[in-house]
Parts: sequence; structure tokens; C-alpha cells
Amino acid sequence: MQKLTGKCLCEAIEYEIAGELGPIFNCHCSKCRRWHGAAFRTRATIKSSQFKWLKGEEHLSRYHSSENNVKSFCSICGSNLISTYDDRPDKVGIPLGGLDQNPNNKVEGHFFVGSKSPWYEIDDDLPQYEAFPGSEDSVMETAE
Ligand SMILES: [Zn+2]
Ligand SMILES: [Zn+2]
Repeated sequence: MQKLTGKCLCEAIEYEIAGELGPIFNCHCSKCRRWHGAAFRTRATIKSSQFKWLKGEEHLSRYHSSENNVKSFCSICGSNLISTYDDRPDKVGIPLGGLDQNPNNKVEGHFFVGSKSPWYEIDDDLPQYEAFPGSEDSVMETAE
């Protein structure tokens, strides 16, 4: 079974993911762009049972970016770590930037291109979606 690890910039916090990541997408929504200070956030959803903190959990800070979405980040170095969902405690949103290894699956497309930054051109052939390519339910679950 695939095992992945990841860490924050200052390495105070480390985590482990057991098993396959859900579909990987680049999210161009304004919240992801602001949170990451980047053109987009490359992210996947996993089951919360696949995720565990290895060390440094006491250094986590949390911010509610919307009613049910909680962003966890390192209070020392500010690295963005995971998203959790008050209404979906079985899911965790993971940005791929912190991973130490190459996961088995690849980026499948771009979503929320309707709010893409004007200074960034998508120059690959992956599918693009105006919003989230799923049910409204899954927007609530994983948009951020
Ligand atoms: Zn840190
Ligand atoms: Zn987003």
C-alpha cells in the first residue's frame, strides 16, 4: 500500500497518508489562491482514516475559511497543511505541495477556472471546469 509523508517548511509538523489519494485537481478558486499565495492549489481529497499527524500537532493553528471548512496551518512557519470539513469529518483535503514523495496518481484537471488569476495561463491539455466537476454536494465537501 502506498505510504506518503509530508511536512511544513520549518519541519516542526509532519504527517503520513496511507493509501491512494483521491483525484488530484488544480483548484483556481480565489480562496485557494490566497491561502497558498500562488496561481492555484494542487489538491486531493482523502479519507480522514488515511491521515495521521506524525509530530508537531501542538503547533497547528486553525482558521475557518467558510462555515464548515477549516484550514490547518503551522503556527511557526505558516505552511498550509490540511483542510477539514465540520460537516464531513470523514474527509481531509490535502495540498500536494508538502508531500515528500511522488503519489501514484497524476493531476486530472483544473477546477474553478472561472475565478482563475488573470496573469496565469493554463498551458496543458487537461480538462477545465468552471466550478467543481461533481455534484453540489461535493462542492461543499471539497471545493477548498
Ligand atoms: Zn512549520
Ligand atoms: Zn479552491
